[in-house]
Amino acid sequence: MNDIIQLLPDAIANQIAAGEVVQRPASALKELMENAVDAGASMVNVLVKEAGKNLIQVIDNGKGMSMTDARMSFERHATSKIRTSEDLFAIRTFGFRGEALASIAAVSQVEMKTRRQGEELGTMLQIEGSEVKKQEPIATQNGTSISVKNLFFNVPARRNFLKSNSVEMKHLVEEFQRVALSYPEIGFRFMQHDMELFNLPPGKLSQRIVGIFGKSYQNHLVTCVEETPHLNIRGYIGKPESAKKSRGDQFFFVNNRYIKNNYLHHAVVNSYEGLIASDMHPFYVLFLDIEPSHIDINVHPTKTEIKFDDERTVYGVVRSAIKQALGAHNVVPTLNFGL
Ligand code: ADP
Ligand code: MG
Repeated sequence: MNDIIQLLPDAIANQIAAGEVVQRPASALKELMENAVDAGASMVNVLVKEAGKNLIQVIDNGKGMSMTDARMSFERHATSKIRTSEDLFAIRTFGFRGEALASIAAVSQVEMKTRRQGEELGTMLQIEGSEVKKQEPIATQNGTSISVKNLFFNVPARRNFLKSNSVEMKHLVEEFQRVALSYPEIGFRFMQHDMELFNLPPGKLSQRIVGIFGKSYQNHLVTCVEETPHLNIRGYIGKPESAKKSRGDQFFFVNNRYIKNNYLHHAVVNSYEGLIASDMHPFYVLFLDIEPSHIDINVHPTKTEIKFDDERTVYGVVRSAIKQALGAHNVVPTLNFGL
């Protein structure tokens, strides 16, 4: 009998991996924006058409890629961000898996234009379902532009599974906001066809919050800062009177990466006890800076959970930071006044 096991061709392996990394247009947008930030861009422009189903384009003015790197960036497990296993314990970039571009290019038609600073010519690369269709030198601006067209064109089941444009658009906006919030010093712009949804100049966090959520937030933000040996917290929380009935906007970032954590969410809500009704939700944008060795970095690219090695201490620090911030602004329960 013949042996029957074979290695899968790259294109198929990439397409399978893509199922994990790219669930919908918003996941592709997240990866492209994170790459732009990792590339040191000071300005990131996003354009989407048909809720990202037909086009997601991200243009940055970051460091760009050489011709060889441009080709290499679409290989699976190809990354410039880590080299050794020790690097895994000190990750400061968004990316490190080298999977995103390979996955995106396996299930869409990608056009990349990129030029490294100081180089005269750039590179244009067209890839369709992992297959390189064209690569040539071109004149282009500094940085990188990636267009992802017709997502899931070769995976009809996935394409049909996409939700309505309004639902997919909501996911795109959410991902955009998360990245834009985590880097207020970078300018971000978001166009839907020829309509500008966001134009966020580089600035401070408070300006970024107002730019995203509106002017009404200007007078509702309370500064929140707490420093401990292994964990620093900084950011803004909403005054109690700005709490909303709907779940509202709540953001935790750990080392600038957006995370969801019900336990820490509880730490915040709990600190508002007596200040807001139990069915109201406070606003917060909190950044936790923690030694990378104290968290589990092997977090899946699309997952937003993270593991702390000492979650209870983190809970305590968050709680005390919030309590102190509310106290410092005399936002204390009125019931206790006059005693
Ligand atoms: P990862 O971000 O995990 O390294 P990606 O597949 O997202 O993997 O990207 C592969 C590599 O391509 C990156 O490590 C980086 O060197 C390069 N790259 C991707 N996007 C950009 C960009 N916008 N600007 C410059 N380099 C980029
Ligand atoms: Mg990446």
